Amino acid sequence: MQPRKRRRKPIIDFVLIAVLASLTAAVVLFVLADTEKNTATEKKEKANHISTESSAFEGISITTDASNNPNIPYALHYPKTEDDAFNKEVRNYVSTAKKAYLKELETLAQSEDDDVIPSLTIDLETVPFKDHYFSFLLTNTTYTGGIDEKAMIKTYFYDNMHKKRVTLAEVLGNDSSYLEKLAAYVQNDLLTNEEWQASLITDNVMRATAPKWENFERFAFRDDTLVFYFDDYELTASATTTPTVEVPLNFINPILAEGYQVDNTSAKNILSPPVRELDPNGKYVALTFDDGPEPGSTEKILDVLDKYDAKATFFLLGNRVQYYPEIVQEELKRGHEIGNHSWSHPVLTNLGIAQVQQEVNRTEEAIRNAIGQGATVFRPPYGAVNDTVRAQIPTPVILWSIDTLDWKHRNASQLLPMVKKSMHNHAVILMHDIHQSTADGLDSVLAYLSSEGYEFITVSEMEKLTANY
Ligand code: ZN
Repeated sequence: MQPRKRRRKPIIDFVLIAVLASLTAAVVLFVLADTEKNTATEKKEKANHISTESSAFEGISITTDASNNPNIPYALHYPKTEDDAFNKEVRNYVSTAKKAYLKELETLAQSEDDDVIPSLTIDLETVPFKDHYFSFLLTNTTYTGGIDEKAMIKTYFYDNMHKKRVTLAEVLGNDSSYLEKLAAYVQNDLLTNEEWQASLITDNVMRATAPKWENFERFAFRDDTLVFYFDDYELTASATTTPTVEVPLNFINPILAEGYQVDNTSAKNILSPPVRELDPNGKYVALTFDDGPEPGSTEKILDVLDKYDAKATFFLLGNRVQYYPEIVQEELKRGHEIGNHSWSHPVLTNLGIAQVQQEVNRTEEAIRNAIGQGATVFRPPYGAVNDTVRAQIPTPVILWSIDTLDWKHRNASQLLPMVKKSMHNHAVILMHDIHQSTADGLDSVLAYLSSEGYEFITVSEMEKLTANY
């Protein structure tokens, strides 16, 4: 027997080494493949079942991770694409939710309540958009024996052509001013929607709709709308009224980056100046700036107006608009009203009808070239107007009630005293944005008027307000 044993020993060694080598290889493979590793450990511990099946959409599969243990029920569904980074992000989200659920179970196991059967489901909805985009909606519903189930939503927007996730920032061309407009729309929609108005917690709405990119990452392109989602109890005290906000795509078309736009933009869209509710008994003033645009001073005035959340009206000269269209675009973008102030600043009452028409129409064309829409009001240079001139003008003609004489004194410290001297409710104040002294003196005027309780509106808003008397 002894010799046989000795003879076989090298063979046994060889077999042992081979077995060890394959085991090592298997371990290395498990470590390398994330999913496989999770599957292996979870299978051992909790008898679950993970399967991945192809979907109706090319390149998109659905993974299901379901528990077979009646004491630990869960069923998780999530997408798998051809982008590894995307898949990893999704898997991280799902496994974090699962870990939190299992941890919650441990806590419950130590409590005395045996009647509770906690559960976790993650449902998946896949919504295609255009040819190659998909919105994935993962609804995480955890029941751990509380009063209610709580549903939380996670969404992913995926470009199946370029094999990558797309964020809302990318959808809006990374323009934070567009985010502000969208955030204001969503906030207003929530606060004014009758369906859930009563159950909203205003502070929560304000926090959840503050213009930060991370506040708006739960979205889906669905039919002709961009939909924003919120968790149960995020905005309301009850889960039966969890709101969603649907923003029509044709309304936000101008702020969507190329590739996400639709064929038509509605006439009234997200870049149109907002229509505000004015209080008939409120204090209002309309600031007007003539003879611009002027680089430097006009830009400074725009910043001062922003500081006080003031909307004003700019009466533009056509022969300047043609040189500085980007300043006019900025005036519009920041919510101010655009007026026509003729092409070359003549005394219109001294001109023939054809000349008046030319002054008005050339300017109108320059404004259209700059901002894609015409002026909504007209102011004649020097206030010189008669019935013949009026008949040539397609928009309301607006004069003023307080002249700051800023063109004459050219002194920043003179601006406020001139306003104070004649201030009255519903005043229309005349200033000129071509003067640096006006730009420099404006802050003190706005600070004073704000402290007196005035709100700053456009001349069209003022016309509408005073027409009601
Ligand atoms: Zn003028």
